[in-house]
Amino acid sequence: MQDKKVVVTINSTGRQSASFIRVAAAVGWHVRAQTRDKQGIVAQELDSTEGVDLCVGSLEDEHFVAGLFDGAHLAFINTTHWGDEIATGRAMANAAKKAGVEHYIYSGMPDHSIYEGRSWKALPMWAQKFAVENYVRQIGIPATFVYAGTYHNNFTSLPYPLFRMELLADGSFEWQAPFHPDIPIPWLDAEHDVGPAILQIFKQGPRKWAGHRVPLAFSRLTPVEVCEAFSRALSRPVRYVRGPIVCEVPVPAGYQEHLAALEETLGWQNAPYFGPELEENCTKEALDLWEGFRDIEEYAREIFPVEERANGLTWMDDEETDTASEAPIRDVENHFQIMNL
Ligand code: NAD
Repeated sequence: MQDKKVVVTINSTGRQSASFIRVAAAVGWHVRAQTRDKQGIVAQELDSTEGVDLCVGSLEDEHFVAGLFDGAHLAFINTTHWGDEIATGRAMANAAKKAGVEHYIYSGMPDHSIYEGRSWKALPMWAQKFAVENYVRQIGIPATFVYAGTYHNNFTSLPYPLFRMELLADGSFEWQAPFHPDIPIPWLDAEHDVGPAILQIFKQGPRKWAGHRVPLAFSRLTPVEVCEAFSRALSRPVRYVRGPIVCEVPVPAGYQEHLAALEETLGWQNAPYFGPELEENCTKEALDLWEGFRDIEEYAREIFPVEERANGLTWMDDEETDTASEAPIRDVENHFQIMNL
């Protein structure tokens, strides 16, 4: 149909893109959704969704990318650190420009090293996105930059770094991280709330949003408040401990350096997550875009136990037994897509 909006997404099985695709397809848009393959439950779900054209191909393949964007009106582009993120980010923007895309939304993150008078380090995996943002601005396409808050579902009781909600022998949970216990962090339920917010930005259009940075965070809660929300949701004690990032499993290349910079900058130096300009009132724009967000207590009550069960954990069945240490760790690489803050 001629009047259908055609929108491009990449890394479409990732939490941000998949969230948007579900919402866009539900309102009748046509989504060209790039993915590397058709494996996994999300790829299968998208493949069978009406209005979604799952386009399997490599983002390094110029010909494929040109076809992906050909005739498209809109694009929601979330690059990841797999491969050369800056090269991919540039290639997507170039292809969108060539295709005459009317509104391009790029999912970026700040570079903490740009602020004068601070001794903050860049978080390497975020600074790459900031470099892409600058490139997109330079080539002059109508673009908006969204920055995602910390995902609710980074939390896991498995021994992964930074958001481990560790199950203790007495059935309580403990979260250890370098964040100040009483300084708020912006939070986002990526699967639930990225889609409606992005749809709304597209609907309001480039006249309102071109050139803007929009933080996608629907609440700001301190680590202590997050543990209180988990405690209410799970009816167990949940304690926050400020301490270094513990890394007990092998992590992908570059992630260790990213975590070290994160620990120093967002942890010991208390730098604001979105950077000083965006952090204050950072939930306002997101809440104006979409009021029906899922808060962290609802996530902890309704989703966290389901995800834990999918990871082979059974603590939700038996209050007395600590089963975390016996649980198989499934699909480590896949989990690191999830952990990749
Ligand atoms: P995800 O972590 O849910 O999934 C990863 C995606 O990357 C999948 O679509 C996967 O197919 C794709 N991918 C591409 N090449 C790959 C390869 N070679 N190996 C494995 N996977 C590959 O994705 P997401 O959460 O939508 O986006 C991830 C990005 O979000 C990261 O760049 C991260 O820095 C950023 N981010 C995360 C948080 C957070 O709290 N977790 C917050 C802000 C920003």
